[in-house]
Amino acid sequence: MLKYERILLKLSGESLMGETSNSVDPETVSFILDQVKEVLALGVKVGIVVGGGNFFRGVSGSDRLGIQRENADAMGMLATVMNGILLRDVFNSHGIEAKLFSAFPIGSFIKGYNRDSMVRRVNNGEVVIFVGGVGSPYFTTDSGAALRALEMGADLLIKATKVDGVYTADPKKDPTATRYSQVSFDEAIGNSLGVMDMAAFALCRDNKLDINVCSIFKAGSLKRVVLGEDEGTLVYCN
Ligand code: UDP
Repeated sequence: MLKYERILLKLSGESLMGETSNSVDPETVSFILDQVKEVLALGVKVGIVVGGGNFFRGVSGSDRLGIQRENADAMGMLATVMNGILLRDVFNSHGIEAKLFSAFPIGSFIKGYNRDSMVRRVNNGEVVIFVGGVGSPYFTTDSGAALRALEMGADLLIKATKVDGVYTADPKKDPTATRYSQVSFDEAIGNSLGVMDMAAFALCRDNKLDINVCSIFKAGSLKRVVLGEDEGTLVYCN
């Protein structure tokens, strides 16, 4: 029995690097594809928001290179476009229909965002991939993920990270750290758990959209999440 039938998966740009120092690691991309395939096979509708941190992040670009923040963020948004093209083509080449939607117009080769068309694709069982975040500087793709999750009517936002959930402390530094199986939005804020950036977090909380934080590098984790098993950390509305 599925607990979640319509999910928005937030993949950071860094998740495409795997454990390598390359911007994109083919084996990792293939592994992620397999994880998504598993949930598609269960009939789950899937949207993906991909970040761009494997190529460029606005804040560090403007701090270190002196690029004006708005322009550095534009570079970051363009980085997400490259990841989106990559994912779309990998999905398509493995026989999975995937459509790319950009928050802003990209020449003639990526569809501009249109909610009705996007929802039709989702209902049709196609994977929709969103790039460009929300299309404005000073935001991150976490906000893009919260926004698109709401627009596609997702019943869960899955934030896929390298760590398999939210911990009481940094598990790399503190061996006594334990994973929260579930935590409420209020507890997450009260304990400064830093699940997502605050703008994204607030959007989810205000619209009662639960979040699951889990590892994308753990085989079967997405599947276990949609089946409602104890995987990662569920951040739930009160
Ligand atoms: N970005 C932006 N507006 C958005 C989404 C992203 O300006 O709505 C820029 C921002 O500079 C950010 C970069 O794109 O640093 C890459 O996105 P993000 O850091 O969210 O990628 P991730 O960490 O998930 O790979």
